[in-house]
Amino acid sequence: MKDSCRFLSHILDSIPDHIAVIDENGKIQYANKSWSAFGENNACALGDEWIGVNYIEECKKAAAMGDAFGLQAYEGIRSVMERGDPGFYFEYPCHSPDEKRWFMMRVTPFQISGEKYFVISHQNITERKLSEEKVKELARMDGLTNIPNRRTFDAFLHEEWRRCARLKKPISMALIDLDHFKTLNDNYGHQYGDECLVKIAGLLREFASRPGDICARYGGEEFALVWGDTSLEQARQLSGRLLKKVAELQIQNEYSPVSRFLSVSIGLAEMVPDKGRKWSELIAEADRLLYIAKENGRNRVES
Ligand code: GH3
Ligand code: MG
Ligand code: MG
Repeated sequence: MKDSCRFLSHILDSIPDHIAVIDENGKIQYANKSWSAFGENNACALGDEWIGVNYIEECKKAAAMGDAFGLQAYEGIRSVMERGDPGFYFEYPCHSPDEKRWFMMRVTPFQISGEKYFVISHQNITERKLSEEKVKELARMDGLTNIPNRRTFDAFLHEEWRRCARLKKPISMALIDLDHFKTLNDNYGHQYGDECLVKIAGLLREFASRPGDICARYGGEEFALVWGDTSLEQARQLSGRLLKKVAELQIQNEYSPVSRFLSVSIGLAEMVPDKGRKWSELIAEADRLLYIAKENGRNRVES
């Protein structure tokens, strides 16, 4: 029997999950190597002296100090102990100063010789969480230009519209369409066209530096900028500067009837959001003004 205990203990020590067993009162009766090592590596005063520590009390203390995850762990363990729930698990972040980490805690009850015990395990799920974050980030961005895509833009504008409504502040939006981009593609090839889109996106990033701003790829060769808490006059200055910066890039488009360098047309709209208005009206207005900018000869801002 002793041998078989040692045998099992070796197996449990080989598992990277942190595993402990508590009794009905919450006292730790067993902890594997990973459990103790984690305590040591994370400046936990207990080191490897976990046996006899009341784990429920530790969670309660953490909860009392405002640790929301300590509270969740405490309530989860109690739900299994007192209500007889078949088990409990939850995921929580546990970032160290130099790396992001997430864990999943599980509580699993078992009985032996009429005594109740509970296995507490903490599994490192950082790899999965990081991939999930990456996927979310990829879904937010435009694949070619690496700036936010239209979906992200719409969600942002919706939020910023509400924020400006609360503050009773104006919100400005510029819709930017590249002039004679088809000509550029036809003359220099699609690859060159793609490179131009990337360059324009890089420029737009400089125009969306505050938390209330966003730049996005709105469609094929159309981009959008939103400036929260920004008056039409301020937005006009920004748009004028953008027009100039695009010209300074000196991107060849020699068969364009407007200029031998790539230019853009901008429809610029401003609104003070209120209850009677929807954020989509701002987009519609910017779109209408963009059409006028095209009609009036391109390479200009209409507001
Ligand atoms: P206008 O000044 O009236 O806007 O003329 P335009 O030629 O820019 O407009 P049009 O709508 O006729 O053509 C848009 C072009 O943009 C055609 C399309 O092939 C190109 N385009 C859209 N998305 C991409 C892309 O991802 N890469 C490249 N290279 N071209 C694209
Ligand atoms: Mg277009
Ligand atoms: Mg165009």
